Amino acid sequence: MPADFDVTIIGGGVIGLACARTLSADRSVLLVEQHGLFGSETSSRNSEVIHAGLYYPPGSLKESLCIAGRKQLYAFCEQHDVPYRRTGKLIVAPSPDHPELNRLEQKAQSLNIPTERLTRQEINEREPHVRAEAALFSPETGILDSHTYMLRLQQEAERQGALLMKRTRYLSGKAENGLWNISLQTSDGEFRVTSERMINAAGLHSHDVAARSGTDTSLLPPLHYCRGHYFSYQGSAPFRHLIYPLPEKDLAGLGIHATLDLGGQVRFGPDTQFINGHSRVYEVSPTLKTKFCRAISSYFPNVDVSQLHPDYAGIRPKLSGPGEPAQDFVIFGDNRPEAAPLLHLLGIESPGLTSSLALADKITARLSTET
Ligand SMILES: Cc1cc2nc3c(=O)[nH]c(=O)nc-3n(C[C@H](O)[C@H](O)[C@H](O)COP(=O)(O)OP(=O)(O)OC[C@H]3O[C@@H](n4cnc5c(N)ncnc54)[C@H](O)[C@@H]3O)c2cc1C
Repeated sequence: MPADFDVTIIGGGVIGLACARTLSADRSVLLVEQHGLFGSETSSRNSEVIHAGLYYPPGSLKESLCIAGRKQLYAFCEQHDVPYRRTGKLIVAPSPDHPELNRLEQKAQSLNIPTERLTRQEINEREPHVRAEAALFSPETGILDSHTYMLRLQQEAERQGALLMKRTRYLSGKAENGLWNISLQTSDGEFRVTSERMINAAGLHSHDVAARSGTDTSLLPPLHYCRGHYFSYQGSAPFRHLIYPLPEKDLAGLGIHATLDLGGQVRFGPDTQFINGHSRVYEVSPTLKTKFCRAISSYFPNVDVSQLHPDYAGIRPKLSGPGEPAQDFVIFGDNRPEAAPLLHLLGIESPGLTSSLALADKITARLSTET
């Protein structure tokens, strides 16, 4: 019996949607999303920054997919009418010859990512409210409307014949006769489909979906959950570019930075707070203001505390715990001899949004080789 679908994707965040769009060019695709909206978990709780690709370990998927994905994303936004802006960003340092800034500059050069070194005076000319002794200007960094981006991915996938189902929860998958026999739940009850291949793009729930597919989860790298909070800054924007401090040592986060949205509003964040489990607690406590003020005033001394307001939070699915070195994205192929092809996408934290189109290409290529 032929399968109902060539590929079934679990999870309708930006990664699942990008995979659906790429794979549906020449395959039948089903995507299931448990919520009533696509992209309502991590994909709508981030900074919406298109990263240049400066930060990640040499040779990592994060590095190569961010650089390739950034170029693809700008082209996609242009072609599909997704609002975006190449704002450029300043990474600021407290001393003129800061070793970390030098390292980032050398890395940018080795990767052919354009950057410009700025002195204190040049910073002052571009961003009079910023206090720093040196900065690296990255003109390739930008922002996008991630919601319109996901809508366009959905529309493209559907135009190519993919079936994208909301309010549909993946319950389990069993490999039978070389196919996946998949059990799904909607408000009308449970139903089954068969599929030749599966992709687990369930983000924070990746390990739960892996367990429901019969994968031995002890073989997977453990998942850690790290919340990041944001504060909005009311009133007119004090900056024209994105302003980033130097990244945190273990790259748990990029430091509490200032981003702009397409309406010109400034927000600060995200911080890093490891939490137990991924309970969807997204409130931002006003008590975090003190911590935010301290971090922000290191590069924006005139920050007006009364203009800072708790905004939103997102949760990073991380493969490194507190104090551990940053881990790469993992594409884990479940190679049980009795199972049909199944790829688990693990630890797709930042720069996942920027990398989404390149990651979808990578998964498409990988899926063709999995038998
Ligand atoms: C604070 C923060 C800031 C960030 N900033 C940036 C940035 O500026 N630039 C950048 O490039 N990246 C950024 N990222 C990273 C980026 O947001 C993520 O890499 C990306 O959104 C991950 O998308 P995803 O599709 O893998 O996961 P998700 O968006 O979480 O999607 C997974 C989906 O799977 C669904 N699902 C789970 N289990 C089931 C099930 N059993 N059945 C059906 N559906 C299921 C969920 O409901 C969810 O919608 C940031 C992340 C965070 C947390």
